[in-house]
Amino acid sequence: MKVPFVTFGPLQQELDSELRGAFERVYDRSWYIEGVEDEAFEKAFAKYCHTDYCVGVGNGLDSLMLALKALGVGEGDEVIVPSNTYIATALAVTYVGAKPVFVEPDINTFNIDPNRIEAAVTEKTKAIMPVHLYGQACDMDPIMEIARKHGLYVVEDCAQAHGATYKGRVIGSFGDAAGFSFYPGKNLGALGDAGATTTNSKELADKIRALGNYGSDYKYHHIYQGNNSRLDELQAAFLAAKLPHLEKVNENRRATADKYLSGINNPEVILPVVPDYAVPVWHIFGIRCKRRDELEKHLNDLGISTNKHYPIPMHLQGCYSDLGYSEGDFPIAEEISKTELSLPMYYGMTDEEIQYVIDGINSFK
Ligand SMILES: *Cc1c(COP(=O)(O)O)cnc(C)c1O
Repeated sequence: MKVPFVTFGPLQQELDSELRGAFERVYDRSWYIEGVEDEAFEKAFAKYCHTDYCVGVGNGLDSLMLALKALGVGEGDEVIVPSNTYIATALAVTYVGAKPVFVEPDINTFNIDPNRIEAAVTEKTKAIMPVHLYGQACDMDPIMEIARKHGLYVVEDCAQAHGATYKGRVIGSFGDAAGFSFYPGKNLGALGDAGATTTNSKELADKIRALGNYGSDYKYHHIYQGNNSRLDELQAAFLAAKLPHLEKVNENRRATADKYLSGINNPEVILPVVPDYAVPVWHIFGIRCKRRDELEKHLNDLGISTNKHYPIPMHLQGCYSDLGYSEGDFPIAEEISKTELSLPMYYGMTDEEIQYVIDGINSFK
């Protein structure tokens, strides 16, 4: 049997007529940028996240970068980011000219450890960027408390966690702003690149929209040196068609995760931990194993595709060599990079496929 790491097949089959209908609606209207589809999706997604505003942008990286820029974070500022995340979180910081300051995660949840944040705060710190990694919410109460105490902005990176909750409240409304990616493989994915920033501040929303539209607040009036990052009509229409099904998608992923959690019993494997405060949406189901690369080969030989998130921590990436870090500086992130293995996870996985993965892991000696 072959089990892919991810496939869009089952969901696309279910939504076939809705997605084709979305395409035809936009095509027949022949209006492709800044229109009614974008407006409708922004409204629906803001409602889903319980925020007052949502601004559609070109991708997830821009959703974070534009939020930081709109908050005035830039040259000479420091931003706290987890040492274990996708590179885009740090790139958003360096794009605006600020310096990323890495804070280690909790090895059990993979998310930024709130107990380690305060030690990283300096006079230059402007913001904290909690990343709800792998689809599980960060411990937001202590993070917000530290931010309040030190007067820091909070920009949530929600790229992997559409619909995840913290103490019953959906993520994306805790901080000053939150960035979402709708990259096709994300829990809510477009049919191309897309992103959005949510916020409760009208001023911030207006500024982010202007920044992503050549810095223009009114046609041919440019009040900022902006860039071009807009959510196009076609992607907005696809996203609006898929949003009403997001809860079902997340529920299905949770059911798969529950089967993994109760079925995998290989003592070599450490399963992901879900704290009481979190209901995850399992963008990634990451296990840990000391002999990760052998386990990976064992599963791949059985026809099971896997992935690693992420094989090289950010402080050891070539693009950040100028930050002067070396091996050993962030041992928890490094441990995760050497031991984490991501299992197949997608909407519509069959019981047979799930059991095949479980049996594959349990047969690893
Ligand atoms: C995917 C991702 C991003 C970036 O999103 P893009 O749409 O690919 O630009 C940012 N942060 C995290 C944690 C991600 O997983």
